[in-house]
Amino acid sequence: MARLVIVSNRVPPPRERGQLAGGLAIALRDAIRDHDTLWFGWSGATGERREPHLSKAGRVSFATIDIPETEYRGYYQGFSNGMLWPLLHSRMGLAQFHRADLAAYRAVNRLFAEALAPLLRPDDIVWVHDYHLIPLGRDLRALGVSCRIGFFLHVPFPTPQLFDHLPQGDDLLRDFTAYDVLGVQVQQDADNLNQAMAGSGLRGRARAFPIGIDPETFASAARRAESTPDAMRLRESLAGRALILGVDRLDYSKGLPQRFRGYAQLLRRFPEHHKGVTMMQIAPVSRGDVAQYRTLRRELDELAGRINGEHGEFDWVPVRYMTRAVARNTLAGFYRYARVGLVTPLADGMNLVAKEFVAAQNPDDPGALVLSRFAGAADELADAILVNPFDPDETAEGLHRALTMPPDERRDRWQRMEEAVRRNTAATWAGNFLRALGPTAVRAA
Ligand code: UDP
Repeated sequence: MARLVIVSNRVPPPRERGQLAGGLAIALRDAIRDHDTLWFGWSGATGERREPHLSKAGRVSFATIDIPETEYRGYYQGFSNGMLWPLLHSRMGLAQFHRADLAAYRAVNRLFAEALAPLLRPDDIVWVHDYHLIPLGRDLRALGVSCRIGFFLHVPFPTPQLFDHLPQGDDLLRDFTAYDVLGVQVQQDADNLNQAMAGSGLRGRARAFPIGIDPETFASAARRAESTPDAMRLRESLAGRALILGVDRLDYSKGLPQRFRGYAQLLRRFPEHHKGVTMMQIAPVSRGDVAQYRTLRRELDELAGRINGEHGEFDWVPVRYMTRAVARNTLAGFYRYARVGLVTPLADGMNLVAKEFVAAQNPDDPGALVLSRFAGAADELADAILVNPFDPDETAEGLHRALTMPPDERRDRWQRMEEAVRRNTAATWAGNFLRALGPTAVRAA
């Protein structure tokens, strides 16, 4: 069987390599089990050293490289997260373009290619991940690499009209043509990318491969977590109030200010929920060194304070808001206890929290999911209460509906959502992509 080569900006840190715990690592676990695997990416360090750091854990070899300090900023904070992230999430107004950042982005991709090419064998299959590394395939081809190379974009792709705002965007579209398989999350992203490429005279062959989770493992983690001290303390602290739960990196794509306003509208327009609900937002700080993220954090601090000031009582705090991360296994128990999962990104490639929330529910008494129709997950989870997250009143109405939904309807909707989450798991996602990439890439199911 061919060797699998995974390329991503971040690779699992050394302490996680034994059991492969992170998001992408979980999704790729089955594929990794079936193949000798090389995982290539950034070491997490900046520096001038050119040779890859090599290590091995079981059947997986790791090769990571340092990035020179001067180029790291332009590549990572600058072009990847300051320009591509907002653009791909249709937030051009937040994007900042600098030619020097684009040059650093291209330079780092070439650096990746130069370090990776000598490690490759002709029958390897290479799978490149995400927006940091769009040019990598073309750079590898330029160095004579002829093996199969696939690319998966984890984030959305905007309309061609919006993408057209990216200076030298044609070049990036051309980069996509170097890949044998081009995967995106949902059909809308595939249509957008293919149209953008067609508009530049290129043949786009993007296809949707919606990513999933490992629902069985997650459900059993949720069952176990239900009786842990953390889950019991949460339950006690709520004193019988219904929990509305949000879990998102603190990112402007997640629609958090709009969500807080939606909750405030619920309290204003549906006073019967006063003192009957608590919203808990877990929002671990992410990219705290980027200005737009600091501004967002201040806005949320203020909103949470204002809602609590306006609606709170001496024995009721309407919003609980924390910017620390919570371990996934603990989260699983929180999801299971929540009456409502509130997932309202303004744009999101997939949104795994929505799928995790579904997987974690108690089948006899499942919670309801209020979901943005702009999350990729909405395609598969049409039985959620779908809302337009730009309208806080619609979110409030969705929350009211979720809080008052009869148990039978809750169970029916949840069953259909749970089937969808089971039908398309992390393993099926990786299997489908690798099968498309090469007939011998995976063992027949
Ligand atoms: N997550 C976590 N702890 C936290 C917040 C989030 O483990 O405090 C996990 C969450 O369970 C999910 C992932 O982070 O698996 C977030 O993935 P998603 O696709 O929802 O959003 P992304 O962060 O990739 O934009």
